[in-house]
Amino acid sequence: MPTTKSPIWHPFTQHALQGEMTKVVRADGAYLHTADGRRIIDAISSWWVVTHGHCHPHIVSAIQEQAGKLNQIIFAGYTHDPAEELAAQLLKVAPRGLDYVFFSDSGSTSVEVALKMALGYWHNIGQQRRCIVVMQHSYHGDTIGAMSVGARGVFNAAYGPLLFDVTSIPFPASGREQATLAALESACRNEVPAAFLVEPLILGAGGMLMYPAWVLTAMKRICEASDVLFIADEVMTGWGRTGSLFACEQANVTPDIACYSKGLTGGALPLAVTLCRAHIFGAHYSKDRMRTFYHSSSYTANPVACAAAKANLDLWWHRDSRERAASLAAMQERAIEPFRSDARFENVRRSGTITALDLKTSDGGYLADIGPKLQAFFNDRNLLLRPLGNTIYVMPPYCVTAADLDEIYAAIGDAADALA
Ligand code: PLP
Repeated sequence: MPTTKSPIWHPFTQHALQGEMTKVVRADGAYLHTADGRRIIDAISSWWVVTHGHCHPHIVSAIQEQAGKLNQIIFAGYTHDPAEELAAQLLKVAPRGLDYVFFSDSGSTSVEVALKMALGYWHNIGQQRRCIVVMQHSYHGDTIGAMSVGARGVFNAAYGPLLFDVTSIPFPASGREQATLAALESACRNEVPAAFLVEPLILGAGGMLMYPAWVLTAMKRICEASDVLFIADEVMTGWGRTGSLFACEQANVTPDIACYSKGLTGGALPLAVTLCRAHIFGAHYSKDRMRTFYHSSSYTANPVACAAAKANLDLWWHRDSRERAASLAAMQERAIEPFRSDARFENVRRSGTITALDLKTSDGGYLADIGPKLQAFFNDRNLLLRPLGNTIYVMPPYCVTAADLDEIYAAIGDAADALA
């Protein structure tokens, strides 16, 4: 029998290899404060969720106020102001043309909802379409449907037989964009898919792989021409990460369906939304109850989470937040620049506030031994960085300082000397 100190089974954690867990007692801004008195710079925004900083006072006070008023209510047959106001505000900031908001509670469920909306749409208008087209190296979450539309590999090898088939097009690596577009065109023509699902501009867990906005624009055009629904998974890219509030803006694209989560509450509470165009809602709007969108979870549109998200949106309305995100993008560019000519690294890249670089090693891939070694090295330097194999990326909250970034990038250089 395994022996562990705690009965908790942690996510993405091999407990047989895991050393002592770091216990965090408090967090503020870009810093985590541990039980043993350390201050750790959160250089990955606690799995990409914290945007304005941990425990932002405006979000905290919105949560406190709402928690004492109405903290949970069934969301079928009932509604509440935090959800109504949030939905109205979301539609103001989201790409123009998205008209309806469906609430759920994580990035994975927002993707499940998107897939069900797309399949339900075709079913309800009387067309048999079930094929979903996806991009190689994608990641959309860990529920069965979300795994099915993600890349097959380490994360889901054990569940392969349960996953449904999808059609995959190649990642548009630099110089090979036309092959991606041709593959999408061919899939749209030959398979008459229900939808194309894509992470816009940057594939996160697949290795922080970046591609230009014009490819996203071209992919949307191809889907439009073939009447294939275009689903943008902005779970990671949303809320300023790529340099605009949503990545689709840079490609001038309004998706048919869009998924937002992570930074939706500024990273304070779990909440997700799936936005869609009116015709998708319209295909489910009927006196026939068989055409109902049968999806819910107990905590759908939890009022406290909605209040946190509303407070997040207040912050985005202020120029301060936009300026801070823009200034982080500029600071990140200055910090990553010297690595472009550093022979120890390759594929040095940036998209908005996110940077990534691959340490040259003899073994690559997510399971490369170098990953945990790097992570331990950074932890010893009081930095929260979680490389994806030999890919190191930096995605801090927007309040991180230039001095913090200096510390982060100095450690990356030192890690290359110590470990590569
Ligand atoms: N989609 C994308 C693009 C993601 O990056 C993630 C998580 O990293 C998800 C979906 C799943 O989100 P969650 O972990 O909240 O279920």
